[in-house]
Amino acid sequence: FRSDGTVEAVAGTTRDVTELDRANQALQEADRRKDEFLATLAHELRNPLAPLRNGVELLAVAEDLGAVSEAQAIMGRQVDHMVHLVDDLLDLSRVSRGVIELRLDHNDLVDVLNMAADTNRPLIAARGHRFTMELPKEELHVHGDATRLAQIFGNLINNAAKYTDPGGRIAVRAERQGDRVRVSVSDNGIGIQASQLHRVFDMFAQVEDGQGHSGGGLGIGLHIVKRLVEMHQGGIEARSDGLGAGSTFTVTLPLSKVEAKADPAPKASVRKHRVLIVDDNVDAAFTLSLMLKKKGHDVHATYGAKEALDLAAGF
Ligand code: ADP
Repeated sequence: FRSDGTVEAVAGTTRDVTELDRANQALQEADRRKDEFLATLAHELRNPLAPLRNGVELLAVAEDLGAVSEAQAIMGRQVDHMVHLVDDLLDLSRVSRGVIELRLDHNDLVDVLNMAADTNRPLIAARGHRFTMELPKEELHVHGDATRLAQIFGNLINNAAKYTDPGGRIAVRAERQGDRVRVSVSDNGIGIQASQLHRVFDMFAQVEDGQGHSGGGLGIGLHIVKRLVEMHQGGIEARSDGLGAGSTFTVTLPLSKVEAKADPAPKASVRKHRVLIVDDNVDAAFTLSLMLKKKGHDVHATYGAKEALDLAAGF
């Protein structure tokens, strides 16, 4: 101020907080998605429990073999579903920490695709889909982890079966493109809106189709698939002409030049073994020992390390 009190000069500072604000919003969004994810997770893990419990009760009262095997089949399917969810969860954390290790090998693409298809055959049959595979005549080899490669295509086929109304069509096509192979998994199912296509590979993404379709998943499968494809130096893209128009997921992988390894040595025939089981999960150890005994092995189950060490020497 001047001596007469009028303003002489004004000084100020301006700070651009746009970045900070954006980061803040991104954090809030991530937090919200995680909350949503936890709710979905709880829901999806609980879903198989009701049929499992019913199965247990059915086994207790079943009077004929037919009822027993029906209960068994239901329980088997539900447990498989839970195992699938939990495996995905474990993979998700491994993928985000970057600690997935690939067991690299040269794999025949046909074997990989057959493995992927086989795990989905029960679901495809249950939903009455028509499933076709179009494979190239020449042998193609892919360098990678056979189990993970099968997981990639298995997941895409699984989604195609889930997100297509019963009686649909699912097609797997593989074709060589120079030194790469393109594998597409198409369905004539519910499709994906253009505005949502870029989101399907995001973590926790579940696309709203406006008709309340839910595949009973966690929205993490495609995120894991994309990371696995990238770990194999490949790429993946999703295409759809919109809701109701089906979807196509295409994976491109580099071909390996080395010939596949010779057939593995024939497996030794099953012999009777002495098996010592050690697990502090008493139920797990007990059921495993029952199963192995049924197969004719000599089994001992123990529940602690000390006890196991004592037994190991003599048994
Ligand atoms: P989810 O466990 O929900 O199946 P994914 O990561 O495998 O999770 O898929 C993410 C979302 O992408 C799904 O929830 C679904 O909305 C959409 N999606 C995936 N595959 C298909 C498909 N073949 N047809 C239509 N929508 C699909």
